[in-house]
Amino acid sequence: MGWTSCRTGIHVTIDEINKCLSSGRIFTTVKLPLHLESAFRDYERDHRRRESVFGLALGTFFYIAVLVLDRVVAPDVFVQDVLTRFCVGLPINLAMIWLVARPACGDAVRQAAGCIAGLTCCLTVTSVMIQSVSPGAAIYFSGNLIILGFTINLVALHTPVAVLVCCGITVIMIAGAALSPLGHPAMVVCYTLVGVLQTVVCVFANWCLQNERRRTFLTLQRDKIRLRQISQQRDLLEQLAAIDPLTGLANRRGFDAMVDADLNRAEVGTPVCVAMIDIDCFKAFNDSYGHPRGDAVLRAVADAMAVRCEPGQRLGRLGGEEFAVAAVGTDHAALPALGERLRRAVEARALPHGRGGAGPVVTISVGLAGSWTTGSVLDTGRFFALADEALYQAKRAGRNRAVVTVEEPPKASDGLRLAS
Ligand code: GH3
Ligand code: MG
Ligand code: MG
Repeated sequence: MGWTSCRTGIHVTIDEINKCLSSGRIFTTVKLPLHLESAFRDYERDHRRRESVFGLALGTFFYIAVLVLDRVVAPDVFVQDVLTRFCVGLPINLAMIWLVARPACGDAVRQAAGCIAGLTCCLTVTSVMIQSVSPGAAIYFSGNLIILGFTINLVALHTPVAVLVCCGITVIMIAGAALSPLGHPAMVVCYTLVGVLQTVVCVFANWCLQNERRRTFLTLQRDKIRLRQISQQRDLLEQLAAIDPLTGLANRRGFDAMVDADLNRAEVGTPVCVAMIDIDCFKAFNDSYGHPRGDAVLRAVADAMAVRCEPGQRLGRLGGEEFAVAAVGTDHAALPALGERLRRAVEARALPHGRGGAGPVVTISVGLAGSWTTGSVLDTGRFFALADEALYQAKRAGRNRAVVTVEEPPKASDGLRLAS
């Protein structure tokens, strides 16, 4: 179940991930092992950076847009309000947005920028409103709570930083209420309570969000591992489906696929050869020595031929005691030598036989056919049937031999082409 992430080089298992996922309860963080923790931070950095840019930009827009409301609520400080927001708050906020928008912006800088932007908004709003004697200004301090919610959630602050920001903003809000000419002890008490409650609620929401992000990250990693496992299993199944388990050679399916691929790559006019191979008197061998020894013969014959095949010559077990070799690009003149090489390779293994009319050792008969790739479709069934016919000729001629048949070269007008 091991897995190594391509991007991060971390090694983690599904069991490990499941353990991490079950570690996070309502008041405990979803714990990640050290290597996963740094992968999580890498994964988060860009997401959170983009989220923060959006949060800061939206907050800055509202910060300026509420000037319309300020005009109604506190007309007596409207000029200071406009000047403070445009000359102090806006430049600082824009600078923070610029800092965070840089792709190289690290997590610490992003957190600091979020804090500075949030606290700047609170300080500028509060410093103006404490100068107002309009009744509306007294309730305006509660606007700090909106800035608080914005800062810690939309700017995606880490929970400890969120606690600091919440406390800072709450203190500014209470100070505003206390220093305002409209200030009243009941107002201070009220803002203290509301500030504390808001801090608790926001910090808890922030905490849950952080944990949820860690869970999402883990689930994503688990899905990736599962997908990779499925794809590995699919590849393995595909390989197994193309291999004959007894001899380890390509089976009919694998053989056809290899030859197909070779034919598709071949240029027009390439010589194509196929050799059909059949073990002589194999039924008699099985009947005399039993199937397990018959299986051993099949393996030995396969091995003997495999070591004599040259690169580009495809060997497969088509079924039973029948094999085939196909070669795209081998000159037809080499066919008799190919047949003889295969035949001798098996004979040289000197596997004792001598039953049912067979020679003293296990032998094979080989039927070889040669053709060419050309412009249009050539029926490979027909081509293989040619080799089969040659094989039967070899059998009829007394077995343990190779018979070659080569098709006439195609005329330019024929436009033949081998295809599956
Ligand atoms: P010929 O020389 O004409 O080819 O005669 P033969 O006996 O080889 O041909 P026949 O088709 O009569 O018999 C093929 C035998 O191959 C029959 C079967 O017992 C054997 N055979 C097919 N598959 C396997 C296998 O996987 N393992 C073993 N041990 N024997 C197999
Ligand atoms: Mg046979
Ligand atoms: Mg046979």
